[in-house]
Amino acid sequence: MAGIKEIISSCADRMDSFYLYDERRILERIQCLKNNFPQVDFLYSIKCNPNASILRSVFSQGLGADAASVGEVELACGSDRPAGNGESGEASGAGLPGNRIYFSAPGKSTKDIERVLGHCTLIADSIDEIRRIQDVCGRLGKSVCIGIRINPDFSFSGDRGAASKFGIDEEEAFAFLRNASCRNVKVTGIHVHLKSQELNAGVLAAYYDKVLCLAEKFASVCGEPDFVNMGSGMGIPGAASDSALDLLQLQKLSQSSLNRFRERHPGTKIIIETGRYVVGECGYYVTKVMDRKVSHEKTYLILKNTLNGFIRPSLARLVEKYSPELNPGGTEPLFTSVDAFRFLTLKEDAAAEKVTLVGNLCTAADIVAEDIVLPHFECGDVVIMTNAGSYAAVLSPMQFSSQERPGELFLSESGQIIGG
Ligand SMILES: *Cc1c(COP(=O)(O)O)cnc(C)c1O
Repeated sequence: MAGIKEIISSCADRMDSFYLYDERRILERIQCLKNNFPQVDFLYSIKCNPNASILRSVFSQGLGADAASVGEVELACGSDRPAGNGESGEASGAGLPGNRIYFSAPGKSTKDIERVLGHCTLIADSIDEIRRIQDVCGRLGKSVCIGIRINPDFSFSGDRGAASKFGIDEEEAFAFLRNASCRNVKVTGIHVHLKSQELNAGVLAAYYDKVLCLAEKFASVCGEPDFVNMGSGMGIPGAASDSALDLLQLQKLSQSSLNRFRERHPGTKIIIETGRYVVGECGYYVTKVMDRKVSHEKTYLILKNTLNGFIRPSLARLVEKYSPELNPGGTEPLFTSVDAFRFLTLKEDAAAEKVTLVGNLCTAADIVAEDIVLPHFECGDVVIMTNAGSYAAVLSPMQFSSQERPGELFLSESGQIIGG
């Protein structure tokens, strides 16, 4: 198969701005996860990129779905509405069976619960939600096993918990579980997710260990759980100074906790859900120089569809402008770091110049990079941005200014280009 730059170049002959997702990177990532963690069941977090070809690819590799909305449950089911007669575990259409889909999000309505019941494993985010699920089940004469999301008494890297809009505080959760009185709802699994984008294997392994201890505590109250979902955390390198998460190291550091838990609870699924680790680096955002101009000695390159097509760089510029610290917390997935992507070019040998990259929207906030050194670009030249596989197309306000939307192309393992 041709190299990725040749493929980008030929796609750019017919489109001025587009995403290109390289399936080979996705498959390589999934294989790496499976090889290092054969005892773990992986879920794909749909919210990071719900592109149909990506979903097909990821699910064909045996990953389940981490759905964050009714819409994502439907995408995972492979139809507009959850199909079938509401029997859990029933395969529907080309998608996943209900027992491979976990729906975890705050603020689910009674209507949401009614729509997905029997098509996925619900993970309740509050005690009130458990009661709502009980009400729906009582009314429909059904019984369900659910998970609960716990806000644990520990943090990702420390020993103390903190207030959170997510999940049920550990103490409250166990008080509820000890006195559980819902007739139609049985809590059989737990979910914890505290942080995304961790690159340090030691920190992640220590976190997994704490979640497994929490699962032991759950088991001592409720019996062997069906599943313990340890959430996400696996990061991808962005800045040139980042070193990639060492999966082999993570495997070595977490092996003993995983094996100990597995031996004690052979019937419990150990789950890790991940979005960006699987698809973040498979994606390229490709745009073109529409115009160039010099103003007060500053050279501007005006690109097609940046803030509205691939918002991440513009958000990074906003954070850079307004935040006193370059790593403010709680900004994922809108903002990862000031340089969580790199620029690639098809013109390696052109002389370098200092330029400011902006987009073609009528707002000054549409800025990609200021005063950076890149090869000399003329109108029509291609600019490529990396790490555009996750939280990229989905986050970008493509309706803004009624611009022509960027395309989304999927390069299959066999070299076929799908989509337009
Ligand atoms: C968004 C999200 C994920 C995926 O996070 P990544 O950093 O993309 O792996 C996993 N779990 C939960 C609960 C999430 O909200």
